[in-house]
Amino acid sequence: MNIQHKNIAIIGGGPGGLTLARLLQLKGANVKVYERDVNAAVRVQGGALDLHAESGLAALTKAGLMDEFKTHYRPGAELVRVTDSQLAVYADQHAEITNEKFGDKNYRPEIDRGPLREILLNSLLPGTVVWDSHIVSIEQIQDTWRLVFKNGNTIMADLVIGADGANSKIRPFVTGIKPYWTGITMLEGSLKDGAKTAPVIHQLLKGGKIFAYGNQKTLIVSSKGDGSFGFAVSFKSDEFWAKESGVNFNDNQQVLAWFKKEFAEWNPAWWELFESADTLFIPRPQYCMPLDQKWDAKPNITLLGDAAHWMPPFAGEGVNMAMLDALQLSEALTDAKFSDTRQAIAHYEKQMFARFGRIGQATLFNTEWMHQPDALKQMLAMFGKNKLKQGLFIGNYLVKVMVMPAIRKAIGLPPVQKILR
Ligand SMILES: Cc1cc2nc3c(=O)[nH]c(=O)nc-3n(C[C@H](O)[C@H](O)[C@H](O)COP(=O)(O)OP(=O)(O)OC[C@H]3O[C@@H](n4cnc5c(N)ncnc54)[C@H](O)[C@@H]3O)c2cc1C
Repeated sequence: MNIQHKNIAIIGGGPGGLTLARLLQLKGANVKVYERDVNAAVRVQGGALDLHAESGLAALTKAGLMDEFKTHYRPGAELVRVTDSQLAVYADQHAEITNEKFGDKNYRPEIDRGPLREILLNSLLPGTVVWDSHIVSIEQIQDTWRLVFKNGNTIMADLVIGADGANSKIRPFVTGIKPYWTGITMLEGSLKDGAKTAPVIHQLLKGGKIFAYGNQKTLIVSSKGDGSFGFAVSFKSDEFWAKESGVNFNDNQQVLAWFKKEFAEWNPAWWELFESADTLFIPRPQYCMPLDQKWDAKPNITLLGDAAHWMPPFAGEGVNMAMLDALQLSEALTDAKFSDTRQAIAHYEKQMFARFGRIGQATLFNTEWMHQPDALKQMLAMFGKNKLKQGLFIGNYLVKVMVMPAIRKAIGLPPVQKILR
């Protein structure tokens, strides 16, 4: 294989970087992961994730980690309730019996990010992840790379893989192509002890997810295994809204006041999500890499995951794509049919570009309609049109519309009883 006797440096220990490290170690490669976090526990990991059969689960299967996954995933956490801004439930996957199971094409089991990261970390050889390694620059010296870290350390690597997320420091050494602004900002929140802190939303959530739509705004809530909730509101905004809004996101009273004003038409029950002083808020302006991006493969550096194809999260594909990148890159780098690493990287990148073209388009489609006045109607119509099989959001389940005929008529929905997957 092309990577024998090479020092491989993966920059970033997110789901993409750790999956790649595991897959390459299974093939006997010499890999280190350089991660900015000072240790595994330093940061609250974000909301829950559904892994898809053809991508996230395929990578875990190849990594020999499905048994571990099956002991940590959360059955039922993927079930969704679709509501309007007044908490009226229009579609409820909890009300349906599904027979989806592992091995089915459309089964999308849910796992929290923390346990997923732990499964991957525990699968690596001791010392693989070098914590507190915030990369600040890299320099090419003949056929190798010199990596410089914020803590003053430097190392040499034969092959560098940028898995360092949306604001990758490695990406400029691969391509000058930049992400563009999508017009949407997301404000992510992480709330402790949801049952106590947000009892009404807790009841509605039922251990699964809520997708709420109203006034061109979206609110998504997911339950997590430790009793906390991850949630995110998203809305149309100027590019630099987070800075220019004047809201101090470390001051929860200010965030609550902002929510009450900007989501004034929404039911006050949602305020629960914003009232606790312990809730962490992170504004996330949404960018997307150009769907037709391409570059010439380099012999000893490439990208995966968000570093390669950052996109909004409205199709639930980011982690899945990062893990599939890891699978395809590991296979290319260890395939004897390629005579050098440039060929292997070119093969991987070709697959990645084409896939991002498709998945990115579906993602932007969701991003657009979810922030239109008729988003709720579109969501329900999409169930009916069986578009979910494209992986656009919820996936797989038979869903019944439970809204009263008069309300359906008022919001312009057809008189349908059953909405099929
Ligand atoms: C609110 C929200 C909800 C989302 N929901 C979903 C979902 O439901 N499903 C889904 O599939 N995706 C979802 N996504 C997208 C998903 O989180 C990303 O696509 C995914 O995490 C990308 O994985 P990655 O490994 O490429 O990068 P990341 O997960 O971003 O990991 C990058 C790693 O690199 C490290 N790093 C960064 N800079 C440096 C540096 N300079 N030096 C060293 N290390 C560095 C970081 O600390 C991090 O550990 C969501 C994203 C957001 C913001």
